[in-house]
Amino acid sequence: MAKETKSKNKGKGEKLADKLFFNLKNCWEGIDAKTEKEVEEFASSYKQFLDRGKTERECVEAACEMLEKGGFINVQTLKNRQFKAGMKIYQNIRGKSILAAIIGKKPAVEGCNILGAHVDSPRLDLKQNPLYEDSDLALLDTHYYGGIKKYQWTTIPLAMHGVFVNGDGKKTAIKIGEESGDPVFTITDLLPHLAKEQMEKKASEAVEGENLDILAGSRPYNDKDAKEKIKLGILSLLNAKYGITEKDFASAEIEFVPAFKASDIGFDRSMIGAYGHDDRCCAFPAIKAMTALAREKTVPEKTVICYLSDKEETGSAGNTGARSCNFENFIAMLCENEADLRICFSNSYMLSADVNAAFDPTYAGVFEKKNSSFIGKGLVLTKYTGSGGKYGASDANAEFCAKVQAIMDKSKIQWQFGELGKVDKGGGGTIALYAANLGMDVLDCGVPVLSMHSPFEVISKIDLYTTFRGYIAFLGNA
Ligand code: MN
Ligand code: MN
Repeated sequence: MAKETKSKNKGKGEKLADKLFFNLKNCWEGIDAKTEKEVEEFASSYKQFLDRGKTERECVEAACEMLEKGGFINVQTLKNRQFKAGMKIYQNIRGKSILAAIIGKKPAVEGCNILGAHVDSPRLDLKQNPLYEDSDLALLDTHYYGGIKKYQWTTIPLAMHGVFVNGDGKKTAIKIGEESGDPVFTITDLLPHLAKEQMEKKASEAVEGENLDILAGSRPYNDKDAKEKIKLGILSLLNAKYGITEKDFASAEIEFVPAFKASDIGFDRSMIGAYGHDDRCCAFPAIKAMTALAREKTVPEKTVICYLSDKEETGSAGNTGARSCNFENFIAMLCENEADLRICFSNSYMLSADVNAAFDPTYAGVFEKKNSSFIGKGLVLTKYTGSGGKYGASDANAEFCAKVQAIMDKSKIQWQFGELGKVDKGGGGTIALYAANLGMDVLDCGVPVLSMHSPFEVISKIDLYTTFRGYIAFLGNA
């Protein structure tokens, strides 16, 4: 039997459609072996970063190490602030946020190219007086951090991360539930047999915030006359190991996060499931883009900056959030004077490096398909965020959108649109508007995510790698 030939001559209309339509391929299609290897290697180092950095503090620590290895110098160790072209510097902001720069050939007043991501993720924070015992169980009271679906955080293994600080400033870092053999923690839920009432409640009320209490022990302290013996048992263990008392929780920052590790997802291992993709899947490629540029022999024309902020998930407030002056102060160090700083802001370009919601066929109803981002189709450019009539959106201007798109096209980096859901279905935002307030051109650019803000989010390896390449292209060419 003769082999069927598939190639047919394209008709006039088909040819015209090829020219006029904006169609995107799946990025895995036609991938060569070399790129495939790079994608896999990048994913593998990212998974290690995720397993090591489950809190903003741990991510900043990991980022500092990556930067130092790449030749970046901590500005606090410098004798003077005379920054010459080619210098690589970074500033650690209270261990929870970081700013890094490679000084360009042109003075900062001519504008910088900036990537801004965040390293905090939704989680459960301990209250200041968390420990109590009830019915022979020890429990820890929490206050959730960021936008979570509370029911998703019950009946999963949780790990404890954080710091205790005593009056002398001595810091004790605690991490329990990550090493094999470690105990983990969990939040109980009601058995279906008795959940008739609970199951009839709205999902937002089925598990109440005040009931996100962590199971922490059940064994009494061995003294028949002691009171609150279960609680005493826990405190005696903590005191023996870390030297802390109940009072020390009042100043501590303790976060409970999912205890599971980052894993490949699917038979084809094309995706990664993990806690904290939002926004470490943009923060990691952003730092990697900086260290990649630092390795290049030529000094970038413009100064390039990477900002990893904290508190994005709760509105970017606080002295480690993007609304604080840390971002401005850092750029001020690179400028001659106050006027130059203000002009520098107006001349700067920034990508707000944050995730977008990938189209999910199971929940197709909340998405507007032709304006959604898709797993496997590259990095996402989001012109505006906000909600209900673009409320609160910085809305990037056409000129800047076109500029970024052209940079990506020129470097053969596939980009896609990403509006967060249907109009009036909800919305969200990133740190873009705070940079836009300074007068910068800002566009959202990141990785599409499934199950965003859940304990186990999903991204595609190819989108992660495409984003990394996109960030390099932007920093070097905007
Ligand atoms: Mn985010
Ligand atoms: Mn988020």
